[in-house]
Amino acid sequence: MHTSPAEQLRFSEHFSAILLFSGSGYMTLIELALLTSIAILGLSGYSWLNSPGSMPLSEVAVYLWVSAIVRRLYNTYCEAIFFAFPQHRTQGVQEHALAADAKDLCGRDRKQLETIEFHDLLTMLSQFSLEMVLYFSIPGYFPVAKQVYAPWYQRFATLILNHYVMSFSMYWMHRALHVVPFLWKHIHSLHHYARHPLSRNTYQDHWLDNFGNAVVGHACAHILVPLDHDLFWFSHIFRIFESLEKHSGVSCHFNIVHTMQRWLPCAQMPHHHDWHHEGHKGCNFTFTSIGGLWDCVFGTRKQGRAMQPQCDGAKTSHDESLAKAPKRSTKSILDHPAICISPVIAVVGAAAAKLSLAGGSMVV
Ligand SMILES: [Zn+2]
Ligand SMILES: [Zn+2]
Repeated sequence: MHTSPAEQLRFSEHFSAILLFSGSGYMTLIELALLTSIAILGLSGYSWLNSPGSMPLSEVAVYLWVSAIVRRLYNTYCEAIFFAFPQHRTQGVQEHALAADAKDLCGRDRKQLETIEFHDLLTMLSQFSLEMVLYFSIPGYFPVAKQVYAPWYQRFATLILNHYVMSFSMYWMHRALHVVPFLWKHIHSLHHYARHPLSRNTYQDHWLDNFGNAVVGHACAHILVPLDHDLFWFSHIFRIFESLEKHSGVSCHFNIVHTMQRWLPCAQMPHHHDWHHEGHKGCNFTFTSIGGLWDCVFGTRKQGRAMQPQCDGAKTSHDESLAKAPKRSTKSILDHPAICISPVIAVVGAAAAKLSLAGGSMVV
């Protein structure tokens, strides 16, 4: 392994806490208490605890447990790839051998880590609360399993459309978080403490950043383009894989979900999001959360390090044409705060209107 002794030391410290929530014993206990409580309620057999037209509460408990376990396991996989195959690191080995010992492998100092830890706790509590509110207040939001489903091509088109609607609203929210100074300073800059991303940075945000993505992205997309039971499960797990890979610090064939998506027009690969982190706020490019289309449509795609040898297995034909294209101005009228925020308001408004017209229910 081509790593420095200092990095090997931090590697062992780094992995010692990988199965704990935010590397913290007490936060892991809180998470276990929440997950166990919901499992006990689900298994209690009280039918009045089940939301009408939705999957039973016991399945919601399984969904939350599976999500927590998949996040741990895939995070471990992504970080194992990062350390086992340094030749694939997007930023290169020397750039991760940080000069300042007071920083972690992702480039954050102790004070920044304490801030992140606080927000990890708030993220856990707010995300759990949001799932419960959605389950109990919107009948059918967690779709119930059926005997018969629509034809496969219709379901596939629905999944793609749902993901593009999700990434559209998340794109504009992310762009607004960068270009509105207040939002950058008080919310999104926390996620960008990590200049050398690793998959564990995926959900390390201000809690409102995660909450906004869950509401504006996932919930609104599901209300506007509802997924059936199986697609709902698939999409959720797929998004976990995609988000972790995007921060994995490597861009190669080991990124399973991104490799599966390389056929998509303007496909986004992990090196694109890595570049977004590497450039800090000055790198106002690559805001898309999934698929990559919206960066190309709205002029914010950069190829990043795609043409360097470590990204050989992940660069796309679009990267090659971008690398040859003349440099464009980075100034855009689309960065006006009102323009960035308007699409977010439009998507939330459309979802609220649709739900209201359906009497607050998603039962079909
Ligand atoms: Zn960002
Ligand atoms: Zn990120």
